[in-house]
Amino acid sequence: MIDLHTHSTASDGRDAPDELVEKAVEQGLTALSLTDHDSVNGLAEAAQAAHTAFLTFIPGIEITTDFEDNELHLLGYFIDYQDPEIIQVCIDIHQARRQRAKEILDRLAKEGFPLSWEEVNKDSDGFVGRSHIVDALVDKGLVSPVGRDHFFDVYLSKAGRAYVPHYYISPDKAIRLIWKSGGVPVLAHPGRMNGDWDLKKLVDMGIAGIEAWYPTHTRQETAFYLEQAQCYGLVPTGGSDYHGRGKQVLGMPEVPDETIELLREAAVKGGGK
Ligand code: AMP
Ligand code: ZN
Ligand code: FE
Ligand code: FE
Repeated sequence: MIDLHTHSTASDGRDAPDELVEKAVEQGLTALSLTDHDSVNGLAEAAQAAHTAFLTFIPGIEITTDFEDNELHLLGYFIDYQDPEIIQVCIDIHQARRQRAKEILDRLAKEGFPLSWEEVNKDSDGFVGRSHIVDALVDKGLVSPVGRDHFFDVYLSKAGRAYVPHYYISPDKAIRLIWKSGGVPVLAHPGRMNGDWDLKKLVDMGIAGIEAWYPTHTRQETAFYLEQAQCYGLVPTGGSDYHGRGKQVLGMPEVPDETIELLREAAVKGGGK
């Protein structure tokens, strides 16, 4: 059993990287990729813990980008997390995320939900996202735990009253960055994207994989993305998007073990397209 899509406290997951590895081993996983949003900060710790536990570890990232009015997430597998360029891009994104979070807090305060910067950042490792904000409101008792998702929809979703957009890097730049640091760019959870968008354009930009197996994908969607993968010569991948809260379970849905070898081969081949 393998899981190629997980988050830790280096972005908006609940488990520290070494705790995540421990849980993966407990669940009987044989391989794990840590793919924090816009961050490589957890990878060294996770790699070390995985090494000690004889768990195969694939260093990863999930970069937030903007594509045809859609938020598009790009996974990068086998990246070199010491690559200065990828580290610098993450630092820039974190800086922009902090600025955005402050603007969201201003708006929430006006809506009657005051939060201090310290309350939001108590569990953060430089990265701050909307999950930290809603979790802090729950911890403070201003939002009930069962009302978390509803609050998110009303105030923090794209149509929400306190929404502030991200600073995005373009998919083109993210794809180049991932290839340049030795990694393989993969389109994350296509089934979660709205509106019109064109997979062919992303293929032309250089993606090498597509996440077909994903908890919210229907059987039909998975079948469709597997077909697309075949059609465009992409590696079909998958993972749980485990955050340590909510419904995701490590190792679910099932993903073929051979996926790792296919990704490794793509990484070795590189992105000369
Ligand atoms: P951010 O990085 O600030 O854009 O926040 C993205 C995170 O918010 C995602 O990883 C999801 O876990 C969470 N999220 C996005 N939309 C929703 C929603 N409608 N309800 C609950 N959580 C959400
Ligand atoms: Zn997340
Ligand atoms: Fe995502
Ligand atoms: Fe994710």
